[in-house]
Amino acid sequence: MKKKRICIVTANRAEYSRVKTVLEAISKNQKLEYILIVIGSHLLRKYGNTYREIERDGFTIHERIYNTIEGENPVTMAKSAGFAIIELATLLDSYKPDFVVVLTDRYETLSAAVTAAFLNIPVAHIQGGEVTGTIDESIRHAVTKFAHVHFAASEASRQRIIKLGETPEFVFNVGCPATDLLLRAKILRQKEVLTNEEIKNPHIKANDPFIVVLQHPVTTEFGEGYSQIEETLYAIKDFGMQTIMLWPNVDAGSEHIVTAIRRFLEEYRLRNIFMYRHITNSLFIQLLYHCKCLIGNSSSGIRESCYFGTPVVNIGTRQHGRERGKNVVDVGYGRHLILKAIKKQVSHGRYPRENVFGKGDAGRKIADILSTINGIKVQKIITY
Ligand code: UDP
Repeated sequence: MKKKRICIVTANRAEYSRVKTVLEAISKNQKLEYILIVIGSHLLRKYGNTYREIERDGFTIHERIYNTIEGENPVTMAKSAGFAIIELATLLDSYKPDFVVVLTDRYETLSAAVTAAFLNIPVAHIQGGEVTGTIDESIRHAVTKFAHVHFAASEASRQRIIKLGETPEFVFNVGCPATDLLLRAKILRQKEVLTNEEIKNPHIKANDPFIVVLQHPVTTEFGEGYSQIEETLYAIKDFGMQTIMLWPNVDAGSEHIVTAIRRFLEEYRLRNIFMYRHITNSLFIQLLYHCKCLIGNSSSGIRESCYFGTPVVNIGTRQHGRERGKNVVDVGYGRHLILKAIKKQVSHGRYPRENVFGKGDAGRKIADILSTINGIKVQKIITY
């Protein structure tokens, strides 16, 4: 029997965390085969060469697309999306998959969805229907309009996709595949985590409390990233707890954040802030569990931390409107507000766990649906 060919396009670590268990389930499914295309910041050293994590996990990378133009500004972001379309058109035409699976809301997601649609290849979209800030909000809903099958991560998202005029029969609430990874993780002792090869540093005190900071640019507030991250940096400096901090993603405005962090660390020579490009997902999950507070605007604060009840200080508009647990406190960009929120969250301690985005079986459900679904028509019709 000919296997259904599923082409998956992943652009960065956030997307990979949403597709890893889907890849595992496809590999086990007799009726499916995958073609994995890796694109975007996955392939850049500056962003941690995260394609290596995919290889370490044992998956075959069939194609690599170098589409990212340096500059991290609105123009290079648009051009990078364009390069992705040009390359994907050739690849998707030669692989002729039965489905193209696209993830979340990155500019490469839009490129992949548009290209597949032009080539009359059905599109399956993981994580549509959510609400956030930044350009991601527009991309996500635009991709919904190109997609034929929708794998929403919550019931509210499923309902929103249906309201956008999509056929309810093809809109599924499966939960988030990143949740699968969280719920199967075996929690290690903090000392083991902070002395791990990837994290260890002679100045890290492995038994002492720590916080994690991860703050990305907001593309719709381009030009404000420098001052936004400075406010966060002053707050964590004043708070004084040892801090594991990650460099931001590749989106427009990234350079402003990077420059601000560099200057700040040079000026204050703080010995208790430790910088990393990327931490392997299984280890990042351990940090999420053990940290006293997660600070910034990463989706991991909203989508993942509720499963551990980790206190979160969510800064600014990037996650505006996204479903979240009670463990998240929202603040604006002021240093005093941020500091006050961190103190409040750290003294509160762990919150009760909440299951907001699924029960840990999303990858398997997505593969099952892809292997059995029939009746997809390339011609889409709005339902109202
Ligand atoms: N993540 C990871 N290692 C890291 C940082 C993040 O594995 O060093 C994972 C994290 O668990 C989450 C995803 O990447 O699933 C989200 O990361 P990020 O904040 O980079 O992106 P966003 O989704 O906010 O755009």
